[in-house]
Amino acid sequence: MPDHVAPVVSPESASRRTRSILERKLLQLAAEESSLGVAVPEPGSQVQYGKRAGDHVAEAADRMARSRTAGELEKLEEEVRAALAKLAAGTYGSCEDCQGPVPAARLQALPWATRCVDCQSRLRR
Ligand SMILES: [Zn+2]
Repeated sequence: MPDHVAPVVSPESASRRTRSILERKLLQLAAEESSLGVAVPEPGSQVQYGKRAGDHVAEAADRMARSRTAGELEKLEEEVRAALAKLAAGTYGSCEDCQGPVPAARLQALPWATRCVDCQSRLRR
């Protein structure tokens, strides 16, 4: 077996560190998600609106608040996975939309950022 090792460049260790940060974030998100205890709502198991208003309204509101949080976690998880995929593809640090560089400061604050500030804010509009 040829012992050929590709020349090691410093970005390699940097991306390895980033990957471990992202993987840890994924684990943390998974833990948060399970601590929410929100099961995927099944059709037909919804709260009966209108039938005895009062308790049920509060319950429904609580449920909605919780599912929104779960949705946010899911979205974040997707972003972290996308960043990991970019890392594996060697495109980490470049914007998903304009292919421009994502500022290092942004990546430091948000390692799973896959878009530059401009594209991200355009996306949210
Ligand atoms: Zn961009």
